[in-house]
This record gives sequence, structure tokens and C-alpha cells, in this order.
Amino acid sequence: MTTLTLERPGAAAGPVAGPLVDRFGRVHTDLRVSVTDRCSLRCSYCMPEHGVPLAPASFLLDASEIVRLVGIATRLGVTQVRLTGGEPLLRADLVDIVAGIAGLPARPEVSLTTNGLGLARLAGPLAAAGLGRVNVSLDSVDRVHYAAITRRDRLDDVLAGLEAARAVGLDPIKLNAVLLRGVNEADAVPLLDFALARGYELRFIEQMPLDGGHTWRRAAMIGADEILARLGASHRLTPLDGRGAAPAARWLVDDGPGVVGVIAAVTRPFCGACERVRLTADGCMRNCLFARGESDLREALRDGATDAELADMFRACVAAKRAGHGIGEPGFAQPTRPMSAIGG
Ligand code: SAM
Ligand code: SF4
Repeated sequence: MTTLTLERPGAAAGPVAGPLVDRFGRVHTDLRVSVTDRCSLRCSYCMPEHGVPLAPASFLLDASEIVRLVGIATRLGVTQVRLTGGEPLLRADLVDIVAGIAGLPARPEVSLTTNGLGLARLAGPLAAAGLGRVNVSLDSVDRVHYAAITRRDRLDDVLAGLEAARAVGLDPIKLNAVLLRGVNEADAVPLLDFALARGYELRFIEQMPLDGGHTWRRAAMIGADEILARLGASHRLTPLDGRGAAPAARWLVDDGPGVVGVIAAVTRPFCGACERVRLTADGCMRNCLFARGESDLREALRDGATDAELADMFRACVAAKRAGHGIGEPGFAQPTRPMSAIGG
């Protein structure tokens, strides 16, 4: 992996003011913050079963470092912050991180992407700290299929976490599902029925080349067309307008009110409207999931960089963003870091 040549700008650092705009005019308002690269599951499309390379614990940003960097981002125009990982609920200080971000002067909307393990216990404290919304990953409501994908028999914990999220008023609750051929493709309709019955918004994510094992093959992945055909066999789907910069295209199901989404990053890329940047748990800023380089904010921050210097590094990282992820183009290379280490 290359490190972007973003030197600390020193005395010439500009003001801590936005927007974070790239060469193509895309304004970045959405920051995904990975708070850990550790995880309680081992989803086959994300992490290898054994031998997961992890950052040294001393490299992981502490809560105050995360809140400081997010605070700078909000002064640069970031309005939405999504905490992710790895599994964010494994961070013992996650409630403090949420409270710190929610207490920033330019308070952003704070959301969480989680596998749901531990959410039954933490949903209340997180909501009280200022968490607004939650996305829970659930690839099957069939216990055997769930365990086959995640390599852990923990479906009941996820279901308990979902109930707790609803009970404390987190809204909306979205479900993320990845379909794998030969494993859970037949679970698409049962998952949708499960979500509709409970008022959750289900989104299918096309499997991307971000697995730790580097096993992704485009020919084997289940794309948006196939997902929609499967759902369409049992439900009437009506496309919804007004997607904006959202990754998910959405359909009204059986005339509503239920909605289903598909995040078709591979077969229907939406890079042209991207407004997302990412901060890894070890403090590196990435301008794309598939970025070839990253900017080491941790080193600068621990070396005494000022807010203005860090803001310049944010701006330079965004300015260097490529037009698209390039999956399928000649020369495309899967990032060295797996999804769990970047933050999904
Ligand atoms: N552990 C949390 C979870 O599973 O929700 C947060 C981190 S996880 C990396 C975030 C999202 O990325 C999950 O919804 C997961 O399904 C998705 N994901 C992971 N690897 C993926 C891949 N190779 N392709 C598509 N989505 C992936
Ligand atoms: Fe862990 Fe989330 Fe990756 Fe599954 S998708 S292994 S829960 S980080």
C-alpha cells in the first residue's frame, strides 16, 4: 500500500474550513470512521477464518483522537458520521466516542454499522449518548446459513440486538445483506419478508473485491439484476426516485410502505455522486474503499500537527480522489487492506 505524499504543510496551512471538494466537483459530507479492525465474526466475504492481520493496538486511535479528527472534519463540511469497523461494538469506549462526536459544536448525524452482537446491551447507552441510526448486517434468517457465512452460530444475538435497537427508538433500522452463490441466495426473499414484517429497511450489497482471502470473482458474484429478479418473483417492486448521493437504489415493495435497496457498487457503480471519505482505525484517511493510497493522520497527529495542518491533509486526500473505483478496468488491483480494516 502506498502512502499519499501529503506532507505536513507547516506554517502555510490553510484555515479549517470546507468544503472538502475533489477535482470532479464532488463535495464530501459523509465520513466513515472505523473504530477497530477487530471483529466478533468472520464473514467469509470479509475476513479469513484464521490469521487475520491486525494493526498493533498502539496504532488504534483513542477516543479523544477520533473525536478531534471528526471535529476537524465537521469544520470542513462533514455532516454525517458513520461508525464502523471491524465490529465497532467491540470498542469498550464506543459510548464515549459517540458522546464526544454528538457533543461537537457542529453536531453531525451519528450512525453505526454493526453486526449486532452486543447491541442488545449497548443500544440503550448508545442512543442516550447521541446515536441516531443503526445499520445491522444480517445475511440470512436461516440459522445454518447465517453460521455458514459468519463462521459463528450467533443469529439469536443479532435478532436480540435488533429488538433492542427498536425498543430504544433508533430509527430507521436498516439491514445489510450480502448474497453468496451456493450459500444464501435463496434467502433473499425470506430476508425481505422478515424486514417487511418488522419495519426494517433491507438493502442488498453486491459482494465487492474486499475480502481478506482475495477470493472474489466477478463471474461468481450475485449482481443487482439477479437480486431484483429473485425479489421480483415474490414481490412487486416499483423504483423510487430521489436517490441523491445514497449508495442504495431503492424500490417500493408491494406498493409500500416497505422499501428495499440494492447497493450495486460493482454492476451499477455510483462513484460520480460519491460524497464519502474514510478514516481507518489506525488513523489513515482514504478517499475511496478502493483507494491505492492513504494519508497517515495518526502519525501527523501524534507528531503535534495543528488542526489547520490536519485539515490540509484532509483536503489534499480528497483532492487526490480518482473518478471511480475502477473495478473491472485493466490495472484494477484489490486493496491490500480488507473491508474489515478499512471500514465498510
Ligand atoms: N462489522 C460491522 C458489520 O458487519 O456491519 C461493520 C463493518 S462491515 C465491514 C460493514 C459492511 O460491509 C457490512 O454490512 C458487510 O456486510 C459489508 N461487507 C464486508 N465485506 C464486504 C464485501 N466484500 N463486499 C460487500 N460488502 C461487504
Ligand atoms: Fe466482521 Fe462486519 Fe466483516 Fe462480518 S462484515 S467479518 S461482522 S467486519
